[in-house]
Amino acid sequence: MSGSIRRIMEKAYKNVLSNPREAKFAFKMQQLFAKSEKRRRRVKEQEGFDVPPFLISSIATQCNLHCKGCYARSNGIAQDDATARKTTLSPEQWKQIFMESAEMGINFSLLAGGEPMMRKDILEAVAEVKDMIFPIFTNGTLIGPSYLDFLHRHLNMVPIISIEGTAIGTDARRGQGVFQRALQSMEMLWDPYRPVIPIRLTTRHWLHSSSPRSKKKRVCVS
Ligand code: SF4
Repeated sequence: MSGSIRRIMEKAYKNVLSNPREAKFAFKMQQLFAKSEKRRRRVKEQEGFDVPPFLISSIATQCNLHCKGCYARSNGIAQDDATARKTTLSPEQWKQIFMESAEMGINFSLLAGGEPMMRKDILEAVAEVKDMIFPIFTNGTLIGPSYLDFLHRHLNMVPIISIEGTAIGTDARRGQGVFQRALQSMEMLWDPYRPVIPIRLTTRHWLHSSSPRSKKKRVCVS
């Protein structure tokens, strides 16, 4: 898992260098990462416990899709029935957790669910923690004008859109029309807001990917 996350971030980092605003942000984060690494080492030496370099946080217990083999639904994290849903933390509680994490030298938290984009209230709160980057693992179907504006304002919020290679593979697992909707989101994100669109593909489907932008080097594949 950590190798895959590292590859995503390395590719995303390389891509942002061609955009002045993002390059400035990347430079600032690079300096912060170096400081955080020292901080984690210091905690280890002085207090004897390991601070992880990144977190995975399930912030949502809802999802708008019903994919086959969904981990979150099979273990009860995501529920359609509101009364069956587990109690969730508030936006302010998540923000507090990430502020404390950043102080300890953690700079990344993957945001998962359910579908994290169903919790814009939480995303808006945690985006204010500027010393952290939040890759958002999303099915990509909820991105519209309001999310475009949000993602443009907060460079530390990085959508990672999941597809299963082709339209056939994606729709068979995720539902009819999901591939097109995810592709539409990628197109919307492409211009004018973000030159980087990380996409998570299963490796065995990569050769068959038909994204119209997939030949451009800015597409990042893990
Ligand atoms: S989008 Fe993710 S959380 Fe939602 S049903 Fe599909 S696999 Fe599960």
